[in-house]
Amino acid sequence: MKRLNFTVDDETATLLESLAAQLYGGNKSLAIRSAVESLAAHSGHSGWVISGFTPVELSRDTACHCCHTTFAVGQTLFKPVFERGVAQNALQELPVEPWLDCQRCALGHV
Ligand SMILES: [Zn+2]
Repeated sequence: MKRLNFTVDDETATLLESLAAQLYGGNKSLAIRSAVESLAAHSGHSGWVISGFTPVELSRDTACHCCHTTFAVGQTLFKPVFERGVAQNALQELPVEPWLDCQRCALGHV
């Protein structure tokens, strides 16, 4: 256990209080923990976080990994660069499937 001291704005403090009251019997530490775990899960892709993207010019028609829109030869998609996440249950294995995101989906990851 660690005691953290940080500052949030009034709206965030009110939101935290209300979420903690609704879901965790008023326990703000549990609410924060759950929020951080949820963030890790959503940005983490099973324990791996995307730390950046490399642009890739398509040599054949390719579908975006996330929204499945198909992009034609010559268009640019973005290949994620992975970095191991810190989630408690982070998987040991790096995603190995071909993974190219369109610009819109790539922006959603960062
Ligand atoms: Zn997409």
